[in-house]
Amino acid sequence: MKKYTHAWLAFMAIKRLENVKLSATDRKYADSLINWFMDHRDDVTQGAWYPDAVIMDMANSHVLKLTPSVDAKNKFKKLPTTYLNYKYGKASPLRQQSFTVDKDDNLPDRCESIAHSVIDHLKMQEMEDKGSSVSPTDNQVALLLFMLSHYIADAHMPFHCDSRRFSEGINLHGDIEGEWEDAIMDCYPPDTSNERFYYDRFGYPFKNPNSNPSHQFFLDKVDNELSGRKFIMSWGASNGNLWDFMSAICQYSYLLSYRFIPQGYDHTNVTAQNWRRPLGSISVEDFGVASISDAIDSIARAWFRVWRRYKKWEKKQRTKK
Ligand SMILES: [Zn+2]
Repeated sequence: MKKYTHAWLAFMAIKRLENVKLSATDRKYADSLINWFMDHRDDVTQGAWYPDAVIMDMANSHVLKLTPSVDAKNKFKKLPTTYLNYKYGKASPLRQQSFTVDKDDNLPDRCESIAHSVIDHLKMQEMEDKGSSVSPTDNQVALLLFMLSHYIADAHMPFHCDSRRFSEGINLHGDIEGEWEDAIMDCYPPDTSNERFYYDRFGYPFKNPNSNPSHQFFLDKVDNELSGRKFIMSWGASNGNLWDFMSAICQYSYLLSYRFIPQGYDHTNVTAQNWRRPLGSISVEDFGVASISDAIDSIARAWFRVWRRYKKWEKKQRTKK
């Protein structure tokens, strides 16, 4: 995904946490995360883009590429039942088959390790005296959280989870991500020289009242999908942690990719003319709505759970004192 898409997804994840129903204790945790985010929101664009701009581990850590296989023994995991990705994936004939995973790819590991780093940094910050030379700064923690949102979002771009080479040929991968970026930059025009959004009175990206109606329609669909969706705290079925959850996300992204561009097609025979038909059983619009709305839900869930884990630890430490 592209730069402002990543930044916008992070804002929408926070907005989702603000709007969903939570228990009284979880609401307190969520509100502290929201407040903290708002203090750092000017750096979201740069931070969420850091993995592409600076880290540049695109070939292995922004992807988990799967290939259909009849012989492999890999099994599909489950996702929270509210996910569009899950609904579309479950109906895919490829779900009856196994798959292989490209051996150098490690997106779920990357997410799990950053999640640990965030919690470690927060703990160190809490334990160290002010001015300590080993104490991490708030900016460092913010950067890690924004980077985490990048890797999570990338897992929701189905072509990051499909071993077919859609960045070649007509570059369908780049084209579709470009369309999402155009829609977001039109509906929420950023201040590009300062790499940030203009804000509305609630602190979220300011909405352009005169955007292209087709862009607006697309993002409204994402909005409607999420506002009608219950926020499930669990990682889904027996998934025990962010690693399991991200592995499952990548599996259903792969299935979604094949529902959009079915077997028999790859970068050599997808043309500028044929892919919009669509070639598969879901439209480019449904493909986009599923990818983007599920990405927002996932960033919200991962951030919240990481934050809550730290906050629970912090509470224990303070009662000890
Ligand atoms: Zn990326």
